[in-house]
Amino acid sequence: MQPQKQSGFVKALRGLYETAPLCRTPRALSPRHYERERTALFVKLVIIPRLAAFRQKQAPLKRRGPMPKIYSKAGRAGCVQLRKAQSTGLLVGVYNSTQAGLDAAVGACAWSTVCEVHSTIIGHATRRWALDWASVPEQWCEGCKGI
Ligand SMILES: [Zn+2]
Repeated sequence: MQPQKQSGFVKALRGLYETAPLCRTPRALSPRHYERERTALFVKLVIIPRLAAFRQKQAPLKRRGPMPKIYSKAGRAGCVQLRKAQSTGLLVGVYNSTQAGLDAAVGACAWSTVCEVHSTIIGHATRRWALDWASVPEQWCEGCKGI
């Protein structure tokens, strides 16, 4: 048999295994039962608590809830909707500000409505508002007011 290399982790586990206490005195057990007892205790006293500690450490990294949706309507980053407004007949887009890189233009507003023809951008706090304003560009776009 070839000598097997032991990693530091395996060595540490071995050390813990050797020092894991037994509930009964070893003498009362046959060698086979002794091994079994030791393994069971080792799992109970060392492996399970360590796994629990590890899981707890990992827990904050886990994302709660669904992943944020990535918008890319018509191949445009962050685009939620791209439509011609009925009133002007010109293209108006609704974007997720962060995904579209419009954060600087609209400040803290998470959603943006953009007149694609006149490059007018207005920010909104909610997606619903951004979508609602998209149908009336003549109310917020200087270029569209004259049409
Ligand atoms: Zn416009």
